[in-house]
Amino acid sequence: MAKWVYNFGDGEAEGSAEMRNLLGGKGANLAEMASLGLPVPPGFTLTTEVCTHFYANDRTYPDDLTEQVAEALRETERRTGRKFGDETMPLLVSVRSGARASMPGMMDTVLNLGLNDQTVEALAAGADKRFAYDSYRRFIQMYADVVLGVDVHNFEERIEDFKDERGYTLDTELSGEDWAELVRDYKVIVERERGAPFPQDPDDQLWGAIGAVFESWMTPRAVTYRRLHNFPESWGTAVNVQAMVFGNMGDTSATGVAFTRNPSTGENALYGEYLINAQGEDVVAGIRTPRDLTEAARNASGSDQPSLEKAMPDAFWGFRTICETLERHYRDMQDVEFTIERGKLWILQTRSGKRTGRAALKIAVDMAEEELITPDQAVLMVDPMSLDQLLHPTIDPGAKRDLIGTGLPASPGAASGEIVFSPDEAENASGQGKKVILVRVETSPEDIHGMHAAEAILTTRGGMTSHAAVVARGMGKPCVSGAGTIKVDYQKETLSAGGRVLKKGDIITVDGGTGQVLAGAVAMRQPELSGDFGRLMEWADQARRMRVRANAETPADAEAARSFGAEGIGLCRTEHMFFQEERIVAMREMILAGDEIGRRTALAKLLPMQRADFVALFEIMKGLPVTIRLLDPPLHEFLPNTDEELADVAKAMNVEPEKLRERALALHEFNPMLGHRGCRLAISYPEIAETQARAIFEAAADVEAETGETVEPEIMVPLVATVTELTRVRSLIEKAAHAVGEERGKPPTYTVGTMIELPRAALQADAIAESAEFFSFGTNDLTQTTFGFSRDDTSTLLATYTATGILPADPFVTLDRDGVGELIQIATERGRGARPDIKLGICGEHGGDPATIGFCEEIGLDYVSCSPFRVPIARLAAAQAALRAHTDPGDAGDG
Ligand code: PEP
Ligand code: MG
Repeated sequence: MAKWVYNFGDGEAEGSAEMRNLLGGKGANLAEMASLGLPVPPGFTLTTEVCTHFYANDRTYPDDLTEQVAEALRETERRTGRKFGDETMPLLVSVRSGARASMPGMMDTVLNLGLNDQTVEALAAGADKRFAYDSYRRFIQMYADVVLGVDVHNFEERIEDFKDERGYTLDTELSGEDWAELVRDYKVIVERERGAPFPQDPDDQLWGAIGAVFESWMTPRAVTYRRLHNFPESWGTAVNVQAMVFGNMGDTSATGVAFTRNPSTGENALYGEYLINAQGEDVVAGIRTPRDLTEAARNASGSDQPSLEKAMPDAFWGFRTICETLERHYRDMQDVEFTIERGKLWILQTRSGKRTGRAALKIAVDMAEEELITPDQAVLMVDPMSLDQLLHPTIDPGAKRDLIGTGLPASPGAASGEIVFSPDEAENASGQGKKVILVRVETSPEDIHGMHAAEAILTTRGGMTSHAAVVARGMGKPCVSGAGTIKVDYQKETLSAGGRVLKKGDIITVDGGTGQVLAGAVAMRQPELSGDFGRLMEWADQARRMRVRANAETPADAEAARSFGAEGIGLCRTEHMFFQEERIVAMREMILAGDEIGRRTALAKLLPMQRADFVALFEIMKGLPVTIRLLDPPLHEFLPNTDEELADVAKAMNVEPEKLRERALALHEFNPMLGHRGCRLAISYPEIAETQARAIFEAAADVEAETGETVEPEIMVPLVATVTELTRVRSLIEKAAHAVGEERGKPPTYTVGTMIELPRAALQADAIAESAEFFSFGTNDLTQTTFGFSRDDTSTLLATYTATGILPADPFVTLDRDGVGELIQIATERGRGARPDIKLGICGEHGGDPATIGFCEEIGLDYVSCSPFRVPIARLAAAQAALRAHTDPGDAGDG
């Protein structure tokens, strides 16, 4: 016989915390607490398998469920000494949903179930009439709302009218007789709205509520929530039926919620609130101001209302001890709901408490130091993404905010500075030591120098994946994008919003964590990289296998990468080094030259600049590996856009602007993604690759001469599709190495590898590996060229496709085995097959995505590389992935 129902109460339970999949989170924890001997009101849980059966069988229950529920109800009656529907000692119950993970959008709770015209009298006799009829009307309202679908405003209106008729203002002025009269009215409302009387039979009530919980699993809100959080529909929900306890039985009763540690700071101190003579929903409803639990908290808040510690010391100390027990047992900070009924303490629920990033860090480190958990467990306890909040300056929580407008929180952190509207101005002003915020309608690759110079970026157009957003995240700068209510006027150099006008030079603050744009400067809090953060990172570094590198090309990014613990540079995009003002002209000269001689003339100007760039990187990275990628983008990205720029280049080259314009047009790449770019540039214009390779080898030789330590650059060839391309470029690099070796009297030490960023390259990985000492997965291009998009989003995708004719691939989708990740896995296997010691890494944006990092660990990559500010996140995620890989999967879950 299948078991559909699990009992708990009185120090025992048929379930346990491990049975979360079957009993839901709430049911599993109630069972666990009962077994621990904690005072949990007795009850029972209908399993998630009942829900699965319900939907698999046309919304019907298993045959033996009725009998099992009746049996469980008898057990609860025995444990409470009460009887369901009894006219002298009635058992009242709460009915709650409870999936594996907490899920707003589903039916929450029906309280006081079992009340009817008879049992309400018994309740009145045991307590008082006012309490009994108030409970009954709450029950009718909740039940009618969540089970019968009667809109609550019907009841709320009735109460308001009733109070007006009697001249009352507060609910507390209503007498028992008043509530009894309202109960009669409520029943009339139900009958009017539903065409049937309010159910009086407690069994009917119970099955109605159970059905409503199962039905709520498929409400549109619940379905949407599941979709957003990737919860599968197959989970189903459990139903918890539990004896009622009352926090509203007078002044010796109370109800409250507590966190075992402070959820916002992580401080190890009981934190929470309570209300005397109240039921659970009153604490959250905000009608009465809840009081502090502890005297310490009351002193801190300056409240004149007594703390629970003072008002009900016995219950308080009992509760405190239970909180300690729960924390020790679950080895995590708990969020606990309790009720005190006439002096007796009951625990209604416990679960892991939600917390800020700051609190998560402190709690994990403290608990490890208290030896409640191991350092490895502490590492597993912190969500890597929550570190993001801690790595940037943030606005002081106490600071006043003068809001101008709001956009998307595109890149975390906050910064203040003077408004500038152009990248050149940003660069000039920052050169004069000013702090500036670059305000643009949107940004493009030519704005990079201004973005670098600015403290933060604000755009009025574009989303979370706009150029501004992606680049700002990469640079670790705060960014608010798409602030559509703010209007930018480049001509007048003003920014206006809601009737306010700010001009160039005015100070604003950009809060990339919330998307807010504020007038003036605001007090900031600096990130704390030592202390708890340092401790956790130390433990993470001990636990991880994969190396973590950074994508960086400027000295500032390289310094930041090192300070965040990067173990090398995984991608230096050399094209980013050519956008600065003094270089772009030489670069354009090189591109627009009609022949090799012209190109070599321009390249000769670029060589010393490029060499200096590499010297700086090698010096900063001191012996750590540095992967330098040869020029990648289609050449037209460097070309002049304005007549003025064109004239500058023409002058430098001593040619007619018109001739230049023709050449620029001819160079315009028809297919910027797959066309004439990457290694194909090196094949068409070998002198470009040779010059870059020479710059690398000369820089390495210079730094070696200066420090006495060997520098071993890794030279990376982009966008390879076939091994022939790679061997062609490799021979150019070898030629440069040979030449520099002859000149300097010592052959350079280096390796050559390739990006794997095209599906074809992934499939050809065995052949390519013959010529590559390393692969770095370029998942930005690989995702797009594979049409990788998140499966859940196919409807938006198709809508976009239908509207625009473009199939947008999502570069931010997490990589796994059934998508773009499959290509990575294939390339890994084939690459290793051909060259067992090939070094494998990833350098697309995904290298900083914790879930993708988990996948990289599974397939055994050697390193991940991400933007500097993501390095700590990647270190933690890599550690978690390694720890999870070593945990026996049999340890968790009930299977
Ligand atoms: C990639 O394609 O993933 C990559 C790292 O190169 P880029 O983003 O420069 O195209
Ligand atoms: Mg690429």
